[in-house]
Amino acid sequence: MRMGNPIQVTKPLIPKKDDIFNYLHEIMDSGWVTNMGPQHNIFEREISKFLEVPDLKIFSNGTLALITALKALDLPEGSEVITTPFTFAATPHAISWNKLKPVFVDIEEESMTISPSSIERAITGKTSAILPVHVYGFPCDVTSIERIANTYGLKVIYDAAHAFSTKLDDRPIIEWGDMSILSFHATKLFNTIEGGAICCKNDNLMKKLYELRNFGIKELDNLEDIKEGIKTKDYIDDIGINGKMNEIQAAWGRATLKVFHTEIEARKRLYAFYFSQLKGIEGISIPKMPVNTSNSFQYFPILIKSSRFTRDEIYEELKRNNIFSRKYFYPLCSDFGCYRDLESSARENLPVAHKISQQILCLPFYGELIDSDIVKEIVNIMKRGLR
Ligand SMILES: *Cc1c(COP(=O)(O)O)cnc(C)c1O
Repeated sequence: MRMGNPIQVTKPLIPKKDDIFNYLHEIMDSGWVTNMGPQHNIFEREISKFLEVPDLKIFSNGTLALITALKALDLPEGSEVITTPFTFAATPHAISWNKLKPVFVDIEEESMTISPSSIERAITGKTSAILPVHVYGFPCDVTSIERIANTYGLKVIYDAAHAFSTKLDDRPIIEWGDMSILSFHATKLFNTIEGGAICCKNDNLMKKLYELRNFGIKELDNLEDIKEGIKTKDYIDDIGINGKMNEIQAAWGRATLKVFHTEIEARKRLYAFYFSQLKGIEGISIPKMPVNTSNSFQYFPILIKSSRFTRDEIYEELKRNNIFSRKYFYPLCSDFGCYRDLESSARENLPVAHKISQQILCLPFYGELIDSDIVKEIVNIMKRGLR
């Protein structure tokens, strides 16, 4: 049995202390701690540039970004949004918080992303949007989804929380759809402790997102009018929210960007190590990124399809050795108490998602592991457990 510190499935990427302390000095000296301050605006530009998109709006977390993205589209109240059950709770919750109805459809066996043919079958007169997820950074079938959306006049919002810097055919994946949302939560590949962003190519929608993020307060080009009391009645038209990222989060993001490349290089080596050690083992399959896609290196998911041992046995065996893998995503969102009574949550409607959620296991995956012996121990424990 392995002794020593518990190993978690991930570890937040921590920036250099000197960088953080320098930014903290700047923030504390200026006295500007939130409300679109200098760190916020610089980080917003730096992150757009880094992700190679013209613009994006940063948020205090990914869930609020998702909620605000849906809100900005003004979808009819009670209308249906088609989504995947194989995701984190935030995805269907953002739909529900907008008084919209999640409709779950099945996923593809290979990519584990939403199945286009299942989307098409689920469309009714009440459908208003599709909310697919690039799960583990595997790209959804964006071309088919675009075709379906155009045919039926539906909006598309991608949950790209796992797809930070993922590219498809050399193009940032977050350029697809009406909008894409990112999460910068501490457990994600790139983090601002808590944080998120929306990428969107439509200028009017961008303006709306800017306003919704800040209580619906209009962009202040009419500040003089407001002061004069002339247009005060136009000051706020939409029911906005407080989704602003504060200066310290933004500074953390700027400093984290500086160590990002080192982390990715380490994760690439870790990926290669896991792959070489686990690929031959009967009963383990490692989902492969399509060739035209860059891996996001956010997770290391494997599928356990053995008649000799179950996923849960491997999970327990690792746990006995103080190593915490994740059954990510089990249970499915469609099995949560708040969703299981939906018609679309019926097990027969989601056979592939149910099968995958019984087989999936995410192994500990963060850069630091490659330079320790722990990763060899993880592999050895698994090999022993599998005999
Ligand atoms: C993490 C995550 C979110 C939510 O992001 P937060 O920043 O934690 O609010 C949304 N969707 C998916 C798929 C996620 O993994």
